[in-house]
Amino acid sequence: MENVYVTIGLEVHCQLLTRAKMFCRCSTDYIGKTPNTLVCPVCMGLPGALPVLNRRALELAIKTALALQCEILPEVVFHRKNYFYPDLPKGYQISQYDFPIGVRGVLEFALQGTKKRVRIRRVHVEEDAGKLIHEGPELRGTVSGVDFNRAGIPLVEIVTEPDLHSPEEAKECLVMLRNIVRYLEVSDGNMEEGSLRCDANVSVSLSPETPGAKVEIKNMNSFRSVFRALSYEVERQAELLRAGKTLVQETRHWDEVRQVTVPSRGKEEAEDYRYFPDPDLLPFRIAPAMLQEIQATIPELPLQKKERFMREYELPEPEAYILVQDRDLAEFFEACVREFPSPRAVCNFILTEVLKNLNSLNIGIRESKVTPSMLAELLKMVERKEIGISLAKGIFEEMFRTGMGARDVMLKKGISFLTSERDLEKVVREVIEKNPQSVADYLRGKEKALHFLIGQVMRATRGQANPEVVKNLLLRELSSGE
Ligand code: ADP
Ligand code: MG
Ligand code: ZN
Repeated sequence: MENVYVTIGLEVHCQLLTRAKMFCRCSTDYIGKTPNTLVCPVCMGLPGALPVLNRRALELAIKTALALQCEILPEVVFHRKNYFYPDLPKGYQISQYDFPIGVRGVLEFALQGTKKRVRIRRVHVEEDAGKLIHEGPELRGTVSGVDFNRAGIPLVEIVTEPDLHSPEEAKECLVMLRNIVRYLEVSDGNMEEGSLRCDANVSVSLSPETPGAKVEIKNMNSFRSVFRALSYEVERQAELLRAGKTLVQETRHWDEVRQVTVPSRGKEEAEDYRYFPDPDLLPFRIAPAMLQEIQATIPELPLQKKERFMREYELPEPEAYILVQDRDLAEFFEACVREFPSPRAVCNFILTEVLKNLNSLNIGIRESKVTPSMLAELLKMVERKEIGISLAKGIFEEMFRTGMGARDVMLKKGISFLTSERDLEKVVREVIEKNPQSVADYLRGKEKALHFLIGQVMRATRGQANPEVVKNLLLRELSSGE
């Protein structure tokens, strides 16, 4: 696209991994539960019910802000954000306003090997709203229902500065943010299930000095739809600009079915939320000791891990970057390297075979039956040339499927170390030399003679060879001797 300037900023909500809601003791485990069974007077906003702050939610939000290198404000102040919407039982949402938890942070990620840096404007905590249900047997297509099970679940909101300049960058930034919250174990970061939600603000202009009106896009529930919605919107805005039209600031929804953004009629026409400090919640002073304690729980983050992997294991940048996307996978890699110190070989096998098998079942490495030692054992056999790499891939598939070790898979499948082609070839040649009569018989067309020769090889290998492989080798040798 010629000469348009794209500016993007993200507002991301992550559901915090607490057991209880933010201001009451109701469970946060709401997925698949009967509507309105995880509620109480507090999260339903009944008169007289008083909120009590869940300290864990606050700690997780602080952890997020610290990991994003934010300055932490000394006092947490909760505000009421007032608006009317049927999924909001109290008529206001408890959120933060002028004193968020953290401000002025940084998020770094890489796009095709190039380092990118996005400023974080703010990180704050707030409670989630309920969910409107527009279809279902109990509604008979005529009314909508509301489920308050989600109401009051703690969220951390992360707002970036408009430092992103393409849909690719925005997507990669969001992926890194998801990876970081997962590394921190503050959120499971699952976009499909709604525990990570992203609103993307995008503006397009013909010159970098005059940014255009920004459009906020909502309702994307995968990384791919964030990318597609932004690409669509950039194209749409650019076309309007080229046609000499002016853009208006608006909120649009991503229509996943039609793959377009559509203007949304919604709750945001009156942007005056009349924020005021919640009189039921006292400001919470964050003691320096609390900050230190939380800081100490922050693990090595993806980019630091990538740098270390490049240094310590001499991995190339692209491979290291993929490996650290998933903390469990990175840890699996390191555990495997401890037992089989050939980082490149381990990395290659993980990025191809392991990922392929995980993806085919759509599971993570934690749910796989193959342990790091099991993979190390398999790779050692390859290194000792006991088996070839293509055989190893097949054995791995079986290990992955059954949870058996490499040696057990080989026993069960009748594959032995002697199927390492070279050893087996030797035995095959010996058998041919020792049985000239059978060879002659076979060459004269006696199929039975071949079976005898196979039997001899099997005997010589004490039944450990794979008969199919033996047959093929015999056929090859016999035809070359013709
Ligand atoms: P609002 O007051 O409408 O909420 P903010 O200035 O608070 O707008 O910004 C909200 C989000 O929009 C932030 O993530 C910010 O980075 C992004 N943003 C701000 N200006 C632009 C712009 N010109 N183009 C794209 N995104 C922008
Ligand atoms: Mg805003
Ligand atoms: Zn409750």
